[in-house]
Amino acid sequence: MRFRARMCANRRQAAPERAACSNRHVAPVVGRFTILFGMTAVVDRLNTEKTTFSVEFFPPRSDDEERILWRAVRELEPLDPAFVSVTYGAGGSSRDRTIRTTGRIAQETTLTPMAHLTAVDHSVAELRNVIGWYAASGVQNVLAVRGDPPGDPNGEWRQHPEGLTYAEELVRLVRELGEFCVGVAAFPHGHPRSTDLDIDADHLVRKIRAGAGFAIAQLFLEPEYFLRLRDRMVARGCDVPLLPGVMPITTPRVLGKFGELAGVPVPAEVSEQLMPLAEDPAGFRAAGVDLVTRLCERLIAEGVAALHFYTLNRSKATRQVVANLGL
Ligand SMILES: Cc1cc2nc3c(=O)[nH]c(=O)nc-3n(C[C@H](O)[C@H](O)[C@H](O)COP(=O)(O)OP(=O)(O)OC[C@H]3O[C@@H](n4cnc5c(N)ncnc54)[C@H](O)[C@@H]3O)c2cc1C
Repeated sequence: MRFRARMCANRRQAAPERAACSNRHVAPVVGRFTILFGMTAVVDRLNTEKTTFSVEFFPPRSDDEERILWRAVRELEPLDPAFVSVTYGAGGSSRDRTIRTTGRIAQETTLTPMAHLTAVDHSVAELRNVIGWYAASGVQNVLAVRGDPPGDPNGEWRQHPEGLTYAEELVRLVRELGEFCVGVAAFPHGHPRSTDLDIDADHLVRKIRAGAGFAIAQLFLEPEYFLRLRDRMVARGCDVPLLPGVMPITTPRVLGKFGELAGVPVPAEVSEQLMPLAEDPAGFRAAGVDLVTRLCERLIAEGVAALHFYTLNRSKATRQVVANLGL
């Protein structure tokens, strides 16, 4: 069964003449993709002359968190981000919240939503079901990531007996099931389980060739790692958009979160710059926003056309960086 994302209240103009997830490495299937009125594929939003940005949220766990998230959504909406994504966690209730949040964004805002999806603890039948829910709630864009073992992200990956092993298979499944635009994860420092950056890049390119139209990079603070990953992709003939993952650093706690998410230590140079301000919240915040602005400026100077901000469900710091960059 193939799903078709249903019409939603997203009021942005559709682009029916463009193929979704246009990907030179996948044979184009004429007539396969039908963009319904008002639906927008992420690749179409990225296909612009202007430097743009996107934002990432996590599904709220309580009414309070939901209010905080929606304040951030409404504050970012006038800035017209290319898309907004919602992560996918372990466990049924978290997953329901991803479906509900992306569905609400599709139906109640002018934003282009993207739902993340992982293969963790899912049979293929369950994955089909979630993808069906995305389609039914008007979500056409999916970030297909494998996910990590619940409880211990560094633990041994355990495939569901009727599930999938790699994100590449998830990309294929989502693309087979409907007219979805699919993105994948990329790792400037290499995936934590990989020992070889070249083999890791080969795997990334396989995911793209399986049908993904773009990739989003894990957080980093040293631009060279991202730029070298981009070079490895280009060397393999892969030129889909690679968005850098950027997190505005506003507090020592957020800096600690960076290390956790990026899977690499905070660069000594960054710690030396920020940590002397640990007891000065305003000074730390200003220096952190400035540091991330300079990182983004360097990336833009290197030809990066879209930046992906991890917001932690707050908008202020992202809005500051976006304003500093004049986006
Ligand atoms: C932008 C971004 C968003 C994310 N969102 C979420 C989220 O919403 N929820 C969540 O739980 N996690 C999320 N993650 C984390 C992600 O799930 C983990 O980092 C996970 O360990 C890797 O996912 P992947 O999609 O890269 O997996 P894969 O591409 O399957 O790679 C996993 C490992 O297997 C190797 N590999 C890949 N293909 C092959 C192959 N064919 N043969 C042999 N080895 C192979 C890779 O090199 C890598 O070491 C996100 C990460 C990023 C960067």
